[in-house]
Amino acid sequence: MGKSIAINAGSSTLKFKLFEMPSEKLLSMGAIERIGLGSSDVEIKYGDGEKYKDNLDIKDHDEAIKLLLDKLISLKIINDFHEITGVGHRVVAGGEFFTDSVVVDDENLKKIESLKEFAPLHEPANVLGIKAFKKILPDAISIAVFDTSFHTSLPEVNYMYSLPYEYYEKYKARKYGAHGTSYRYVSQRAADMLGKPLEDLKLVILHLGAGASIDAVKDGKSFDTSMGFSPVAGITMATRSGDVDPSVLQYVMEKDGIDNMDDMIDILNHKSGLIGISGVSADMREVEEAQTENHRAHLARDIFMNRVVRYIGSYVAEMGGIDALVFTAGIGENSITLRQEVTDKLSYFGIKVDPEKNDIRGVERDLSAEGSTVKTLLIPTDEELMIVRDIERLRK
Ligand code: AMP
Repeated sequence: MGKSIAINAGSSTLKFKLFEMPSEKLLSMGAIERIGLGSSDVEIKYGDGEKYKDNLDIKDHDEAIKLLLDKLISLKIINDFHEITGVGHRVVAGGEFFTDSVVVDDENLKKIESLKEFAPLHEPANVLGIKAFKKILPDAISIAVFDTSFHTSLPEVNYMYSLPYEYYEKYKARKYGAHGTSYRYVSQRAADMLGKPLEDLKLVILHLGAGASIDAVKDGKSFDTSMGFSPVAGITMATRSGDVDPSVLQYVMEKDGIDNMDDMIDILNHKSGLIGISGVSADMREVEEAQTENHRAHLARDIFMNRVVRYIGSYVAEMGGIDALVFTAGIGENSITLRQEVTDKLSYFGIKVDPEKNDIRGVERDLSAEGSTVKTLLIPTDEELMIVRDIERLRK
């Protein structure tokens, strides 16, 4: 029996989940945050609710990974590095090239590095993580699992922007989407729960976390998705704007003296969405708590709901129907009121949720009321489990 680790490396973070395989038993999970920023937070959960926490000066990803592996040994989660026989890395951008997860050899690593223009903040961090693990665990299989792969099935009509065609031809400027690993996991679970082949189902999956997107799954494949060339597009998110008219950006930049697009993109990614509208919080719990007293918090939640409902409607229209609506990720799994209110607005589609069944958080369940012609499912996502399953699949 080996152990596999799923890694999500950001520019200053390293999150992980360690599984025993093939039993898929979760052995440990945690994160190292603020790497290279002077005082890094380390948190490792393991055993029966045990937790290790520390604050250290960790200068780079190499040091973070070495520390993580040492801690896994000293906390007796593993006995030796070499028990870890598989490392799976979440990689944000796979472009048109990576239609599935791959084993990272030299050629694939070069290709991943060449895609950094598609995710300038994330891809270099993903590459750092891959290289650092390869150095410390050279004998373990190393795989890359792309957020975008699941969406390489989008039909041309859904991935093309209505821009001069040459921008696609010359620069591959198109919609790529994100959260693909989550959609892959959740869509398969939905088919299992409904007892039907995925290929026969029309699903709308709502991945509503801090980053949020919506996916239409048809014929077992991603058919349309709300994120675009980058994750800033689509619905309102914690700190991201979702869809906006580009002309308003030009207008605001001129008025506010913002003289470069990078700064504006930063505002769209980090200062917009729930935090931008409400001024209260990027966290939906706090926005929900504030909404009775605070108009802007109320508005932020209303706009969030409106964009969710708008996308569901357009995806049902595009697919010509819907068999099931699926809620996942932090808000989708935990906001009972939001699930109820979204589905109440969709009753004309034949969607009806049973309030008693809906009175639950973070547990896989069919929430549909008696007589509902469209099912509503709650399915907690598990991207890391999907990643370690990919390791097993690609080992063969
Ligand atoms: P994720 O990115 O999937 O981890 O989701 C994180 C988000 O889930 C948080 O920022 C919260 O806004 C949201 N969330 C978690 N618990 C709740 C809850 N009980 N009610 C509403 N939103 C929640």
